[in-house]
Amino acid sequence: MIFKTLRSGSSGNALLLEWGEGVHRARLLIDCGLRSQKAFVQLLEEEVGLDVPLAGVLITHAHSDHVNYSALRVIDRLGIPVFIHEKTRDQVHKRHLHPSRIPSSANLEGIDFRNFGIDPFAVGDLMVTPIHLPHAPGVNTHGYRFDCGRHRLLIATDFHEGDALLPYLQDVDLIYIESNYDPELLRQYYNPASRYHMSNEAAAELMDRLLEENECPPCTIVLGHLSTERNTPELALSAMKESLAYYDHPIELHVAPRHSPSEPFFVKERN
Ligand SMILES: [Zn+2]
Repeated sequence: MIFKTLRSGSSGNALLLEWGEGVHRARLLIDCGLRSQKAFVQLLEEEVGLDVPLAGVLITHAHSDHVNYSALRVIDRLGIPVFIHEKTRDQVHKRHLHPSRIPSSANLEGIDFRNFGIDPFAVGDLMVTPIHLPHAPGVNTHGYRFDCGRHRLLIATDFHEGDALLPYLQDVDLIYIESNYDPELLRQYYNPASRYHMSNEAAAELMDRLLEENECPPCTIVLGHLSTERNTPELALSAMKESLAYYDHPIELHVAPRHSPSEPFFVKERN
């Protein structure tokens, strides 16, 4: 499996996963919060790539930096399947496809929504396990664990409390986790919505709890969804490094770039 972040932060989110060999090779986009149809098409052509089939787009939640009307128009036009929790689908409809909010000429009833509930489901050879996460009130939100053979990866963004993740984090090779704000910078640039996100310290503490209980820790942690005003890559990294310093395990730490793709991360096989 190869994982890449394409956009990360309140100005837009999109992550990319690739798995399989030969004819089984496929890609899945996770979130598509681009600001315009043009930007999303460009992302699909230039950063996702058309050389390998795109199995679909998996949605974490209905906030517009993760999915929006522009992205849905492109998805409809190109016939891309949308994997979405049934409750999130309703919320996406209310927020982004409500008749009062879209041009009367737009008809997006043909979008190929593929609903899921609480159970894991397959996308080709990839098993996807939804993990319900607490985020803003009334916004149904999921993190995901991906299993393909012995390759395991977990992504969790836009949440404020990570207890639900712990059982799923065991034996995962790569973790993409939100590290949204530094508490000191939040005091200077107050934003009431920050309470629905993970601080650097909360993300670091969650990883600390994981390592305490796990004999086979991740090889790579990618920090994402950093606030522009209330965080810096240096602050996010140093909070996480401090937490990991107690352990002997070598763990690679990265920060997802806000507006551009990250390097590709190769997910290693686990026992
Ligand atoms: Zn959100």
